[in-house]
Amino acid sequence: MTTARSMVAGNWKMNGLKESHEQLDALADMLTTGSEADCDVLLCPPYTIIASFAATSPTRILIGGQDCHTNVSGAHTGDVSAEMLADSGASHVIVGHSERRADHGESSELVAQKASAALAAGLVAIICVGETEAERDAGNTLDVVLSQVAASIPADAAADRIIIAYEPVWAIGTGRTPTTGDVAEVHAAIRGALVDRYQEAGSSIAILYGGSVKPANASELMGVENVNGALVGGASLKAADFNGIIDAYRTT
Ligand code: PEP
Repeated sequence: MTTARSMVAGNWKMNGLKESHEQLDALADMLTTGSEADCDVLLCPPYTIIASFAATSPTRILIGGQDCHTNVSGAHTGDVSAEMLADSGASHVIVGHSERRADHGESSELVAQKASAALAAGLVAIICVGETEAERDAGNTLDVVLSQVAASIPADAAADRIIIAYEPVWAIGTGRTPTTGDVAEVHAAIRGALVDRYQEAGSSIAILYGGSVKPANASELMGVENVNGALVGGASLKAADFNGIIDAYRTT
């Protein structure tokens, strides 16, 4: 059985200015001076600094976008295409983050179109799924998450071009996390769906956990079966905190 390469990814959301380069530089120092972490490291800053981050980032730190349009170009004021992200030096893009689903009414079908655009541009698509608190309380977590997974992955997506991020909406930015048992249950269900869809290749798709991951809880959460890394919001803004999460993938 193949296993997934782990990734620790940072989503800076609408945070970050030119001066934030100091955090990129500090993280680069920590990655080169500390012991080697057995995971990929990705930072997704806002569009305005992607190109400069990508130009100066050491190859050890991958750079990604936080969203993309479904089209390559055209009359879509304020939007950014996957091709533009790739042209700016991005290798990955997050699609279907719950803040996009909630704030911009994005459906799983639209998320699949965005992921498809990302793949066409040569990017790896990080497809986010996750239940709201009301959906969890109603006992619908697995139904919600699995239907999002099924509908958000484009029909023609190759297994090695996608990553899934399970992010319970109620855990994002709240300091609350599911129990490790709950994380294990959802990740196992997602893994099952990926293996059903892709057979053996489904076991090599990384499934990230996201939602209030901090240095203090990273090792425990990253140790859960079928958790292949983290998608980190708040704690990715400071290099020291983010590096403390990456520690979960260092042996010394
Ligand atoms: C996120 O927004 O993807 C996220 C996981 O945020 P936080 O780590 O701040 O909960």
